[in-house]
Amino acid sequence: MEKINIDKIVLDAPIFDSGAFGLTDQQTDLTMLARQLGQTRFAERAHDYDGAASFPVENFNDLKESGLLGVCVPKELGGIGADYKTYMLVGAEVGRYCGATALTWNMHVCSTLWTGQVVDSLDLTAEQRANHERRRAIHYSRIVDDGAIYSQPGSEPNASATGTVMFSTKAKKVDGGWRINGHKIFASLAGNANYYGVLCCEDKENARLRDTMYVAIPAAGDGVSVKGNWDTVGMRGTDSRDLFFEDVFISADEQLMPRGVYQQAGLRWPHMFMVLTATYVGIAQAAFDFTVAYLRGETPGMRPVKRRMFPTKQIAVAEMRFKLEQTKSLWFQAISEAGLDPTKDQRLRAYAAQYTVMENANELCRQAIRVCGGQSILKSFPLERLYRDSRCGALMLPWTAELCLDRAGRESLYNPGETDS
Ligand SMILES: Cc1cc2nc3c(=O)[nH]c(=O)nc-3n(C[C@H](O)[C@H](O)[C@H](O)COP(=O)(O)OP(=O)(O)OC[C@H]3O[C@@H](n4cnc5c(N)ncnc54)[C@H](O)[C@@H]3O)c2cc1C
Repeated sequence: MEKINIDKIVLDAPIFDSGAFGLTDQQTDLTMLARQLGQTRFAERAHDYDGAASFPVENFNDLKESGLLGVCVPKELGGIGADYKTYMLVGAEVGRYCGATALTWNMHVCSTLWTGQVVDSLDLTAEQRANHERRRAIHYSRIVDDGAIYSQPGSEPNASATGTVMFSTKAKKVDGGWRINGHKIFASLAGNANYYGVLCCEDKENARLRDTMYVAIPAAGDGVSVKGNWDTVGMRGTDSRDLFFEDVFISADEQLMPRGVYQQAGLRWPHMFMVLTATYVGIAQAAFDFTVAYLRGETPGMRPVKRRMFPTKQIAVAEMRFKLEQTKSLWFQAISEAGLDPTKDQRLRAYAAQYTVMENANELCRQAIRVCGGQSILKSFPLERLYRDSRCGALMLPWTAELCLDRAGRESLYNPGETDS
């Protein structure tokens, strides 16, 4: 990668100041790297990828060359060895400059985070652990040695992505591996990933939720196809077209988690579903930063007209700042608590953080447009894209805004197993 000359740029202030938030050296360095890439490369490309609804290929080349494809791959297996919290902080910095890049990179990183830090903390038999170690080394080597990109298609045209219904994509045990059949919708990176990290259900009698499987399907495999188009209001660069699997054979080593372990992960490590929020924390920060620069008359590409002297604008900016601070503080606390078997309060705080980030990111963008005014929604500025991208966050399963409310209300009022009869 051509070296970024940081002497020539004034780097944006970090979303989370290292000293104030007690970031580690690794967190400080990686968030700075993300800001450098975002500010000098991703930001200027975001408009074109959004317009064309095309996958941000150049940004992924930069992520690869900077080592960030392996951000959560353990150091001993060639990666950077970042943990959940570190990844989340870095993801927010990427999301600030290109939401679609951050969201798709998130799908890729999950294939290493979930198979890494999350599985490391779960209960596995010695045989499962040994097989998992051997298999994930294969997947991680593809990423760090060959630059392979993984995606994470879970959603189907049914309620399975909510985590309450079995996936209708099926994996049938056959000699040497599995045969996969099914259909995924909203499959970000469709046609762009090298491997699809698919959630599916074991095809056997009396299959239950615990028979959920997480497997890697080579994009070039026989029977894999991408269909339809992706032309949406926001997150257009995610290229989330439909994926079809027809009698696709995969070897046993394509299992990303041992049989039965995905359900344990979801129940005992709930913060694994909060990963999407990183992108939207970045978008919320970007909307605020844009507003301040705009009202100060410092927006690149605009005449330097100041609008900051109007009391109505000052009050609106104060409200935005408070909303941003509330969002960031709650989110920082929640990502700091992520881990195995969180307490009830910690789990409910994770729902609250997810809900707050997704709703407030969109609300901050709405406020930004209102306070900046008409010229701010020109396509030559990033704000209208931030507004459209931010609308998508609350829709994303399994923790949509509605489902967070649903769970937080019920779990606040009922203890496990309690009924009213
Ligand atoms: C930009 C973008 C990228 C995406 N990328 C991916 C990806 O890479 N991989 C992936 O797996 N998915 C991805 N998704 C899909 C996403 O997570 C959802 O699966 C998708 O938005 C579901 O749409 P739907 O209308 O079919 O949802 P539905 O299941 O029909 O839900 C619609 C709404 O009903 C509500 N609802 C659903 N079930 C319940 C319930 N039991 N109780 C109360 N309310 C409920 C939810 O709040 C939801 O918002 C992506 C989505 C977007 C917007």
